Amino acid sequence: MSVQDNQFTHIPPRLAGLADLAYNLWWSWHPEARILFKQLNQLAWKASIHNPVRMLRDTPQEYFLAAEKNEEYMRRYDIIMNRFRRYMNTTTGWFREEYPDSKSLTIAYFSAEYGLHHSLPMYAGGLGFLAGDFLKECSDLGVPLVAVGFMYSEGYLHQHILPDGWQEGIRETLDRDAAPVKRVLNSAGEQMVVQVPHIEPPIFVAVWRVDVGKVPLYLLDTDIPMNDEKTRRISSSPYTADREERLRQEIVLGIGGRNVLHQLGVLYSAVHLNEGHPAFALIERIRERVARGIPFDEAVSQVRLTSVFTTHTPVAAGHDAFPVDLMDQYFSTYYPSLGITREQFLHLGTHPDYPESGFNMTVLAMRLASYRNAVSQKHGDVTRQMWKNLWPDLPPQDPVPIDAITNGVHLPTWMNPRIEDLLDTYFYPVSPNWQQEHDDPGIWSLVNEIPDEKLWDLHFDLKIKLMSRMRERKRVKWAKRQEAPLSLVAEGLLLNPSILTLGFARRFATYKRSALIFHDRERLKRILCNRWRPVQIIFAGKAHPSDYEGKKILQKIYTLAQDPEFEGRIAFVEDYSEQTAQYLVHGVDVWLNNPVPPLEASGTSGMKAALNGVINCSVPDGWWLEGYNGSNGWSFGSPDPAADRDAADAQALYDILEYQIAPLYYSASIDGIPHGWVAKMKESIRSNAPRFSARRMVKEYVSRYYPRLVSGADIAYACVLRK
Ligand SMILES: *Cc1c(COP(=O)(O)O)cnc(C)c1O
Repeated sequence: MSVQDNQFTHIPPRLAGLADLAYNLWWSWHPEARILFKQLNQLAWKASIHNPVRMLRDTPQEYFLAAEKNEEYMRRYDIIMNRFRRYMNTTTGWFREEYPDSKSLTIAYFSAEYGLHHSLPMYAGGLGFLAGDFLKECSDLGVPLVAVGFMYSEGYLHQHILPDGWQEGIRETLDRDAAPVKRVLNSAGEQMVVQVPHIEPPIFVAVWRVDVGKVPLYLLDTDIPMNDEKTRRISSSPYTADREERLRQEIVLGIGGRNVLHQLGVLYSAVHLNEGHPAFALIERIRERVARGIPFDEAVSQVRLTSVFTTHTPVAAGHDAFPVDLMDQYFSTYYPSLGITREQFLHLGTHPDYPESGFNMTVLAMRLASYRNAVSQKHGDVTRQMWKNLWPDLPPQDPVPIDAITNGVHLPTWMNPRIEDLLDTYFYPVSPNWQQEHDDPGIWSLVNEIPDEKLWDLHFDLKIKLMSRMRERKRVKWAKRQEAPLSLVAEGLLLNPSILTLGFARRFATYKRSALIFHDRERLKRILCNRWRPVQIIFAGKAHPSDYEGKKILQKIYTLAQDPEFEGRIAFVEDYSEQTAQYLVHGVDVWLNNPVPPLEASGTSGMKAALNGVINCSVPDGWWLEGYNGSNGWSFGSPDPAADRDAADAQALYDILEYQIAPLYYSASIDGIPHGWVAKMKESIRSNAPRFSARRMVKEYVSRYYPRLVSGADIAYACVLRK
């Protein structure tokens, strides 16, 4: 099996490495590699929105010829290419050192979405970013992983907001030849196409590959001429609302994905499911064993011992369940191949308390994976409570067998490179290896070595960058569409970097309570328009295309932002994406989060903010229950349901804003620096960065589960495959 050749014939051989680099997302978390592209052709880099594949394609040959003659450029090029090749060729690393006996272990990771970079719009939200950060960290630690997902041709919707505040979804087809993905080719040199086994009418998937450092991610694409119209749309965008379409997506991901790895000759001994969508992969593993003559029950126990399932959703309705008649339609020829009856098959996905709710993917995954986890400690409690009846025979004193591993974020992806440089200046002399060891909390007290004015000045720069970036985006759109000036107000034209700035960016799902801060408009107005201590808020986020309530909330905020009574202190950034998230988590002062507890399983955007010295102000839910230590931010509102929770939480938020946050921010000393504020920024970095890093998280998965996956049965199985 091979992948398509680089399409760039206009790059001279001496610089051919640029194409290799462009097709490995390693550049997305190595700023020095991005600078190589930027220096080559700054205009094309900008025009490509920082997508090196597009940029190389659009750069005329003379730029390369000029670079070849530029000694300084070539010196940098050689250094960075060496660094890249060394990274890729390292077969040792943390995992091999810690687990020298796990040589036979390779894990197949399945997820319906991946948030890796905005040039690959294959994500809807937090679940995808968690998966993306997971792959990057596994690459850095040398954890042997192969990933499977979808090549969404349209991605998640692009958001355009009409002058009246109503969200419009814009479909944009991804130009696959201008994205960092490659076609996987068969022996005849054509793109590899695999049939989803045992499913009628047939579904064919074409295969693409994204290199995430050392981790290959294979993407499934049904948008090919061999399929009929309806089937071609299966992989067009994540989480279609139509039940049948959704079932077909999950069949393609689980069963198709399993078969793709098989056809690729990828040998792996364990599976990790990120949420229930890909759970059919486990059924398919059982079927293969049954086909080789292993009895069903034994096949089930082998699969269980080698499967990890991570659940992310604390609301029952958030778990996919399919009507039995749909299951019959697609699986009536499938379950006989498992050697079981229809009833036994349906039982695998039936919740004992709600048998009428259909075939539930989470129930299936819980039953077929021995290692199950939630994504924060609190979410662990909620999840154990939610699913405890799946173990009716469990003695009451025994814990429900679901663990918790709190999420983390990939530090090199989310920490601004200039912040990282600043830390390096003060960390390096004491702890030269700090980047490798950044999950060691001890190192981080070194932030106190950074002079206040250095951190403050840099933060202020990043804030200016955020605001000028918002204005520039708006200018370009305005020039194109000549929108009404009012929408310019709503989108940040009047923001002022000297003013205390809150950021609120997340999906407009109802439980996130995006409009909570508007609960008492008069009070909010007094806070935002305070003459001496004004406050401004930047909102961003998309409502799911079929979420009418979410769109109404968004419209309300957008409309209020234009209301002169708030004096231009509220702004809304259109089309929240990975790139917008970067600017926001680097550049606001406070990261606000106020979901209805306990509905935020973990949340990760606040962790990204904390890494950059942005201070969290959040209700006690998800990760913040573990993160808040009394001095690294603010916690407000009650964790328990109250009669009028929204009113109580809003009051608590106003009080904190008015009496704590604003006074601290505006109490600059004679040198113009708010030292009290900077102390909190440092505490936010010090206490959160090591604990909520993907490095700590991946190490936890590995040490708890992965070596145990190499059970006797599976080593035997891996050996069979290897022969
Ligand atoms: C991190 C991130 C998310 C997830 O953030 P939450 O805190 O879980 O809401 C969603 N979208 C983007 C673009 C992100 O970067």
